[in-house]
Amino acid sequence: MAQEALAQLEQTVSVGSISHLPVWAGFTPEQVELGAAELIRQTDAAFAVLESDHEATWEGLMEPLERLEQRLGNVMGVVSHLVGVKYTDELKAAFDAVRPAYVTLANRMSQSQPIYRSMVALRDSPAFADFGASRQRIVTESVKAMERAGVHLEGDAKARYQEIQQRLSELGNDFSSNLVKQEQTARIDVEDAERVAGVPAPILALAAERAVADGVADASAEAGPWYFAVNGPNYVAVIQHASHRGLREEFYRAYRTRGTDPEFDNQPLLVEILELRQEQAQLVGFANYAQFSVAAKMAPSLQAVWDLFAELETAARPAGEREYAQLLQFMSSRDAPEAEDPQPWDIGYWSERLRESEYDYDAERLRQYFQMPKVFDGLFALVEKLYDVRVREVAGEVPVWDESVKFFEVLHENQTIAGFFVDPYARPGEKRGGAWMNTVVNRSRALAPPGQSSALPVALFVMNGRPPAQHQAGLMSLDEVRTLFHEFGHAMQHMFTGIEESGASGLNLVEWDAVELASQFNEFWMDHKPFLKGLTTHVETGEQLDDATIERIVNSRNFMVGNATLRQLQFGKTDMTLHQQYGLPGVAVPGTPFAIEQQIVAETVVTPTLPGESMLPAFTHLFSGGYAAGYYSYKWAEVLAADAFAAFREVGLDNDAGVREVAQRFYDTVLGLGGSLPAAEVYRLFRGRDAQPDALLHAQGLR
Ligand code: ZN
Repeated sequence: MAQEALAQLEQTVSVGSISHLPVWAGFTPEQVELGAAELIRQTDAAFAVLESDHEATWEGLMEPLERLEQRLGNVMGVVSHLVGVKYTDELKAAFDAVRPAYVTLANRMSQSQPIYRSMVALRDSPAFADFGASRQRIVTESVKAMERAGVHLEGDAKARYQEIQQRLSELGNDFSSNLVKQEQTARIDVEDAERVAGVPAPILALAAERAVADGVADASAEAGPWYFAVNGPNYVAVIQHASHRGLREEFYRAYRTRGTDPEFDNQPLLVEILELRQEQAQLVGFANYAQFSVAAKMAPSLQAVWDLFAELETAARPAGEREYAQLLQFMSSRDAPEAEDPQPWDIGYWSERLRESEYDYDAERLRQYFQMPKVFDGLFALVEKLYDVRVREVAGEVPVWDESVKFFEVLHENQTIAGFFVDPYARPGEKRGGAWMNTVVNRSRALAPPGQSSALPVALFVMNGRPPAQHQAGLMSLDEVRTLFHEFGHAMQHMFTGIEESGASGLNLVEWDAVELASQFNEFWMDHKPFLKGLTTHVETGEQLDDATIERIVNSRNFMVGNATLRQLQFGKTDMTLHQQYGLPGVAVPGTPFAIEQQIVAETVVTPTLPGESMLPAFTHLFSGGYAAGYYSYKWAEVLAADAFAAFREVGLDNDAGVREVAQRFYDTVLGLGGSLPAAEVYRLFRGRDAQPDALLHAQGLR
């Protein structure tokens, strides 16, 4: 039974030279649970055999390991994808039932001492010199990753490391669940219609629904009462649109103190997290957690990160001050009483009014110009022109998870090199929100079908576009178009990879702070006015969008960018300072994390803040996400993307021959080399030098 279920889950087909395509269907949730559990058992057993009996060679160790990991990853990948796009309670329950065993096995595989010792032996063997860049990097990075996870520790140090790991995972969970619980209980009640003036109707409807749920049977969106949950969407809506200053203040104070409610207090948690991270970093040989983090990233040193912060801050501060002065002037010109004593809860509201007065465009009207098939055509035409590839729909032969899903193949010099799925439209109740890209098949020599040197890479895109009305194309919002370009950038790096060792192909082994290079790079094309205009065709008239609107859309990208930059720098500097200095064992603390944060806010931000306000108790990126001592990555990747795009600007975006030449180099290096070399080296191969912040600052009008 379990065997059959597993066989069903693992079933794949080949279409042309694209192999390992999952069938996506034909199994019940019970079979998912049975089959996945069986696979985990089999993998565990096979791994135990490998641990006790292998040769420390590429073929004897790395390849069997890759096969085990791929087999496990493929099945779990299919199941988790289906939970995201074909959700049922039963499927989710089946996935949840096998997930703990999967996590345990994955941990065991990444922390095996026999495997670690053999990898070290392999790295130090004479054969290593002949490995080629990909294999060398896969081995050395695997060894490093295992050492970061404490595999080489002995005795007390090992026990302590594991204890810390365990405790950190609990603390991270508690940190985020405190916020969820506080969000479930915290509420702002409004009876008086005057107080909700300006708040968007959908937000009022939700607040009225909440009031009904909480016992006010006759609450309505129009007449109230309104019970607002204190969450992100409500906060943004109120801070930007509520004209009642008192309501904005109430929301600001409630939202900005999340994680400090005595019942759900994150303050002691984050102090403990910081202290444990420092101890953990020192156990595996680093001076502090910031060093530990940056050692695995593209940034060459902490100093390089601080240098970037300083350069961006020097450029952004005068702009930030100028923007704030303009904002105050605008408030006065509108006779706003707030102009006399501006408070933190006034900034968002008045910025939004200023933005409307300078750059307004009707988002709904704009949708009429972005027909999904035409936008895809425009994107494909760009990719074809730049990289000398062809994108072609393959209809009918490839299994899909929903009838609206399409499959495309990519050809280069008349050879198929990759494939991708597109799942374009929202399916309420079945598909989670947002847009994302994922990998389905890695380019892999080990999984090569007969007659090919490697299996070809396959990606998937999921979007939540508005489904097409009758006889009309689906229409996209501007944000959705931008997201598509972003995700397609990631996919290009996966699909255009020339690396055949899957451990270093595509996005694999690309450092965290370099991963957003290709995606953000691809977004820059939308700021090129002729190109953006070329994407538009009115759904009824067939006309393109007018120049004035194109102009406003592109120019609005830099609205208040000085202040936005300063805010990102505030987060990045706080993150780095805490992980560099706070909570080091045996070192006297020069202040609490909150005092350190206050100091950084005071020196960085130019708009008003609330005395004593701290974002740390709600900073999930740092305390329950992957961004600890890595928040700077947002800016780091933005610098790379802008500098890469500048290479195209330098030859002239309308100079087709020149652009194609730069694109070819981009294809061969950034998109093609994957993680086979450190990202900094790959970038130098493309640009002939390191990235510099000038291009970003220039694009944002900050220099
Ligand atoms: Zn991304």
